[in-house]
Amino acid sequence: MLAEGTSYVGRFAPSPTGPLHKGSLVAALASWLDARAHGGRWLLRIEDVDVPRCSQAASDTILHQLEALGLHWDGEVRVQSRRTEVYRAALDALVVRGLAYGCACSRRDLESQPLASDGTRRYPGTCRDRSGIPARAWRLRAAPGETAFYDRVLGRVALDVAADAGDFVLWRADGYCAYQLAVVVDDADQGVTDVVRGADLLTSTPRQILIQRALRLPQPRYAHLPLVLDAKGEKLSKQTRAPALRPDHASSDLVDALCFLGHPPPEDVRADDRDALLDWAVSNWNLVRVPREGIATGAPRQ
Ligand code: GLU
Repeated sequence: MLAEGTSYVGRFAPSPTGPLHKGSLVAALASWLDARAHGGRWLLRIEDVDVPRCSQAASDTILHQLEALGLHWDGEVRVQSRRTEVYRAALDALVVRGLAYGCACSRRDLESQPLASDGTRRYPGTCRDRSGIPARAWRLRAAPGETAFYDRVLGRVALDVAADAGDFVLWRADGYCAYQLAVVVDDADQGVTDVVRGADLLTSTPRQILIQRALRLPQPRYAHLPLVLDAKGEKLSKQTRAPALRPDHASSDLVDALCFLGHPPPEDVRADDRDALLDWAVSNWNLVRVPREGIATGAPRQ
């Protein structure tokens, strides 16, 4: 339940490294439906902090694709690459309070460390108590112990971030803000109450909660969605060359995404136009119907 007097604010936050595909449509559509079904706002945020991997062309394409799908956002589009100073100020606040520290380790120094759940190397804490070193990256001091949260699709989810990843990166050695910090700062700044996104980000959530606590920011509610897999069982992604959504396929792509999300539209609705399909989906949206099979947590749904 949202706290009384709080109105729902959701968001879709694509990284413009390529066009939307059937996998990203599932996250866009579910977050849009959940916001609209709650009578809430739905914000669009372009997450281009990883400047070398992002492009303006991809960002323009994403906006056009969402328009063709009828997924209209509220207010201005937020663009993260224009907000570096805000993220830097958040980092500085953590450093001043001793909650983040500079790290001089190179990728090479860490290559023998085990992999964390997000594919980064677990950090052994080498620079934790060193001072006066030339900082390359900046890391959050991750307190030991489980960080748990209630997921609206999965139930209780918990991860010991310190054991999994160690002190993780807030500011990258190449000079760019890390995804985790930018997301937390913007979710709070934009008053986001509900994050609905793919389960590929499930292990990011406890990291984001640790940053929220360190910055004394509110924690949104979370819902993580099953991932669309290709014929080889791999997650559809730009890296696996998932085909881009085509504007002239909007209705059939929406039907496919709704079926995937456990909301198959009746035949007569399928034959209707795109907006009637979306109206039907808003009226019938219920997260309880979203399948959780294939998302590894083992947590009971509450
Ligand atoms: N920008 C992230 C991505 O495209 C999503 C971030 C989020 O939803 O928190 O994978």
